[in-house]
Amino acid sequence: MTSLLIAAERLIVTRATAAPAGSSPSQVVSPGYVRLDGGHIAEVDAGRPPGRPDVELTGGTLAPGLIDLQVNGYYGHDLVDADEAGWHTVVRRLPETGVTAFLPTFITAPIPTLVAALRTAAHWLSPSPSPSPLPSQSSSPFPSPSPASAPGGSRVLGVHLEGPFLSRDRRGAHNAEWLTDPTPEAVRTLLAAGPVTIVTLAPERAGGLDAVRALSQAGVLVSVGHSDATADQVKQAADAGARMITHLFNAQSGVHHRAPGVAAQALADARLTAGLIADMAHVAPVVCKVAFAAAPGRIVLVTDAAAAAGMPPGRYDLGGEPIDLPADGPPLRADGTIAGSALRLDAAVGNVAGLGVDLAVAVDAATRVPADLIGRPDLGRIAPGAAADLVWLAAADAAETGLRARATWIGGELVFENTRRPWAPAPDDGPATHGSKGRDRP
Ligand SMILES: [Zn+2]
Repeated sequence: MTSLLIAAERLIVTRATAAPAGSSPSQVVSPGYVRLDGGHIAEVDAGRPPGRPDVELTGGTLAPGLIDLQVNGYYGHDLVDADEAGWHTVVRRLPETGVTAFLPTFITAPIPTLVAALRTAAHWLSPSPSPSPLPSQSSSPFPSPSPASAPGGSRVLGVHLEGPFLSRDRRGAHNAEWLTDPTPEAVRTLLAAGPVTIVTLAPERAGGLDAVRALSQAGVLVSVGHSDATADQVKQAADAGARMITHLFNAQSGVHHRAPGVAAQALADARLTAGLIADMAHVAPVVCKVAFAAAPGRIVLVTDAAAAAGMPPGRYDLGGEPIDLPADGPPLRADGTIAGSALRLDAAVGNVAGLGVDLAVAVDAATRVPADLIGRPDLGRIAPGAAADLVWLAAADAAETGLRARATWIGGELVFENTRRPWAPAPDDGPATHGSKGRDRP
């Protein structure tokens, strides 16, 4: 791997030392530079770089590569039953949205279907650059990733099982027939099948708290979701080891002032970090602002993307059953239930920043916060020693609104660019030597 010096008009840097309470450890630096070497970040600093940069980023913001903890599918493919070509497409093309690492997510399905999907996912697992803190991964029956998880694509960090241990009353687009209690046997079967990183469950189901304890002890991140729990039941789940809430406000009990539910406890309990689908349709903009204000550093932006994401309006699959993507708004089941999203994570960051949330905080919610939550502090930050996963975010349109990925690097290699190298020095500035090595146009 080669060394690369990138100068940026603006970049978001994460401090190594603890930030003062309530403030983000990440901040915007302008201008600044970053030197990549051997797939990692070797040096970061403010000001102009010490030597001639290989890449000069004018405008926009250089950010850590985005990390999405909830991706059901994308580009026409539903990952629960995607074939090799489908997985390949999703893994290779997610960097177009700035996503450099993600958790394939399977919604409720019969246990044998989930077992098969977990076995497939194991073959796409990205090699861990550092010893995994998750025992369930280190004891995986699959000794090494197959060559299928080739360089040039987004890193597969593990699987998010969103079901089948969910509340019938809060099932959303999940098939009620396949919902079941989290028996020790069901939990064991799923853990043995593949690399489980997150399990979303409803702790009020029979055996729910025992399952939270067993999964947490196995190194799995337990997320309360599709749940009708009271705030007190969520507190008990957190006492048992749960640390996340799945898509805050959606498919869960809310914030009624005399009958607080999942969302109220999520915002109040400092042990919990909440996923948020910031497409401005799943959760109203003003409520997204409330979430960021109430739980600083504890909101994770997720897409909950379905196969319809990145595709034109039409019929697609979610969890093996049909959904329809209209011309405007999220995908729907035939009965009108919202079924996943067609959101891009880069757009979600822009949406949140557009609400007045500090840009560094919005980026943090899609990078450092999810990385830390799943025990991967080697990812999600521009800091010495971190993986050289980066995205250059720029305005989505001529009106200078929104955000889109303009270029994406994974492990120091340029894997996506959406223009003809707009950052190249002018021709009379000497030959451009950058951007030509390791490029892999999707
Ligand atoms: Zn869901």
